Amino acid sequence: MSARIIDGKALAAQIRASLGARVARAAAAGQAPGLAVVLVGEDPASAVYVRNKIQACHDSGIRSFADRLPADTTESTLLARIAELNSDPAVHGILVQLPLPRHLDAQKVLESISFDKDVDGLHAMNAGLTLMGVPHFRSCTPYGVMKMLEHTGVAIEGAHAVVLGRSNMVGKPMAMLLLAANATVTIAHSKTRDLAAVTRSADILVAAVGRRNLVTADMVKPGAVVIDVGTNRTPEGKLAGDVDFDAVREVAGWISPVPGGVGPMTITMLLVNTVEAAERRAGLLN
Ligand code: NAP
Repeated sequence: MSARIIDGKALAAQIRASLGARVARAAAAGQAPGLAVVLVGEDPASAVYVRNKIQACHDSGIRSFADRLPADTTESTLLARIAELNSDPAVHGILVQLPLPRHLDAQKVLESISFDKDVDGLHAMNAGLTLMGVPHFRSCTPYGVMKMLEHTGVAIEGAHAVVLGRSNMVGKPMAMLLLAANATVTIAHSKTRDLAAVTRSADILVAAVGRRNLVTADMVKPGAVVIDVGTNRTPEGKLAGDVDFDAVREVAGWISPVPGGVGPMTITMLLVNTVEAAERRAGLLN
């Protein structure tokens, strides 16, 4: 039987629709949510991502502040700009679009964002709090994946969850959020032996690698939930995930497509984190 589809686009729309009331409530309390997006350079893909984020803010009634800095911006200029945004009361969230030009130290730049405005959840403090099971801001992509898993209604507690990939942005925080939800978690990576044996034991499989068709049908346990974070290009230039979708959907119980799966959820959770930041400042969160 064919797997049920986890429609990230529809779920994202549902979550965004529920944000309007929260935005209005925060605004009424004097904290109209505001997101600053900083783009350094002219990378075309990054420019598209930034445009989409600003549009998403606009659609949800969140104020956005776009900073477009030239590719040769020095580290000290960028850090000074972030310091201004850190102390700007209209700004609740700051996002620096990655990748940064090579001459800039991305980790240093991310650490310069006040952890209280780090709506991407990439600051060491936020990574550490997630590790400790008391997240402040959750990294947006894993946060979105958790919402997708919750949406299926499949029990996370006690399930064996396998995460493919161990990046700081996706794999590691993903594993920590699954652990906090009481899954038994395995993290696999490029040095994992017999990857198929590991993935076949997964009740929940999250692929976050960046290799098209890495996950084939014989690597999936019948009935498993398969979430595809990967974004790759086909030779024809189309977007594709890490999972061989057509074959795996015949084995899995649930599967998320690419496009229309994790992607729309990532931007949505950025909005959620920004609203949460404003609510926190307004004293509306516990
Ligand atoms: P990354 O930093 O390149 O990490 C990739 C991970 O995959 C690494 O941990 C690597 O292992 C592992 N890996 C590589 N080859 C492997 C193999 N053959 N078998 C098992 N593991 C392997 O990438 P990332 O930032 O985590 O992103 C992962 C993918 O998700 C990319 O396609 C990215 O574009 C996509 N993404 C999508 C969204 C979205 O919103 N849809 C958001 C973020 C990322 P090692 O550590 O051993 O090198």
